[in-house]
Amino acid sequence: MFTCNKDRVKDKIETFARFGAAGNGGITRLSLSKEAVQARNEFVKRMKALGAAVFTDDLANMYAAVPGLDPLLPGIVMASHLDSVRNGGNYDGVLGVIAAMEVAETIIRDKIPHRRPFTAMVWTNEEGALYPPAMMCSGILCGKFEKAAMLGSKSPGGKTFGEALAASGFAGGKENRLNGKNYAAMLELHIEQGPVLEAKKKQIGVVEGVLGMVNYRISTRGQADHAGTTPMACRKDALLAAADAIKYLHAELDKLDKNLVYTTGELVVHPCVHTVIPDYVEFSLDARHRDPEVMGQVVNAIRRLPKKLDKCAVSFREAWARKTVLFNRDLVTMVEKTAKTLGYSAMKIYSGAGHDAQYAADIMPATMIFVPSKDGHSHCEEEFTSVDDAWRGINVALNTVLAADAAPPGGLSHSPGGQGESRRRGTKTVKIV
Ligand SMILES: [Zn+2]
Repeated sequence: MFTCNKDRVKDKIETFARFGAAGNGGITRLSLSKEAVQARNEFVKRMKALGAAVFTDDLANMYAAVPGLDPLLPGIVMASHLDSVRNGGNYDGVLGVIAAMEVAETIIRDKIPHRRPFTAMVWTNEEGALYPPAMMCSGILCGKFEKAAMLGSKSPGGKTFGEALAASGFAGGKENRLNGKNYAAMLELHIEQGPVLEAKKKQIGVVEGVLGMVNYRISTRGQADHAGTTPMACRKDALLAAADAIKYLHAELDKLDKNLVYTTGELVVHPCVHTVIPDYVEFSLDARHRDPEVMGQVVNAIRRLPKKLDKCAVSFREAWARKTVLFNRDLVTMVEKTAKTLGYSAMKIYSGAGHDAQYAADIMPATMIFVPSKDGHSHCEEEFTSVDDAWRGINVALNTVLAADAAPPGGLSHSPGGQGESRRRGTKTVKIV
């Protein structure tokens, strides 16, 4: 087993934390912003200094390739993202890029023999914080989104993703895109972004897949009236109905499997005036679980919502859904064995968050490695993973890359993975009346 250099890992974490530092311990590094370009330049500078060949594709995804003994064999790639959410932390995404850089650096400096080319990769616009949706460029590359439509995605300021891409100077050739022919396997190291590893006192998360999810929009329709003149008994208050619908759903969903997670994070109130009884309310329901049967029970619970609550009509529609993505079994086993051989405590885990690797899993064998997040915090400035935890995760990545490198050509079966169909049904409305 090989190990990478802990001081170098620390240096990389501290260096990248400077690009977009918001002064409170975290960063704001929106995709293709000035700060993101600084981080990209650092990646390019460091990888070129190591002798890697650096290039980009038409979506500004960046690649730094280290040749292997047999350059004709399909390569191994490690990828994650350098962009953050607004006031995000120093680990989400960037730690996966640092891991890829450190694996490359260790292979080169320690002259570790490897047959296949190794590529450290950076995805563009994973967060979708400025130009939605999230995982935009892996989505385009893996056939989930149309490039033309995505180029038109607008920031709140009115700038399109296409304009930002052209201005960035990082757009390259389409022929450079990651593909299942030139690459044999993809690995993404990421912080867990949840509290499970820490709570279970495990150092490594062996990620088996990404939870399936549904996203519903539920609405209630009442009557707008004057807040001062309408007696309580005469009201059709859509917000009260929405509150009761949320409570109903919580009561029903709590009866299902204990691993189900669900959230109402968005609430739209109309007309949203303090002197007017709301006549229309719409709220989101995001639910996630690995088992399609449990997801079916969630949908059934939504369908059982009373047709009327507090004299208001209740309706719902599915905004979008995604099936559970299963990562490549051979790679998952390699990660598990590697962690064990290195003497690290590990557990199998599913990702509740979406990642670029889940789209990549549709075009090539792919998997992920999780490292613990302190107190489970992520997408905030408190996000923290110790250098020791990061170092252990990168050691698992390094040795998994070498195990995949040693696999015979075609030795990695492209097993399941490809259940990652996401679908949009934004216009379909199902009314229960
Ligand atoms: Zn991420």
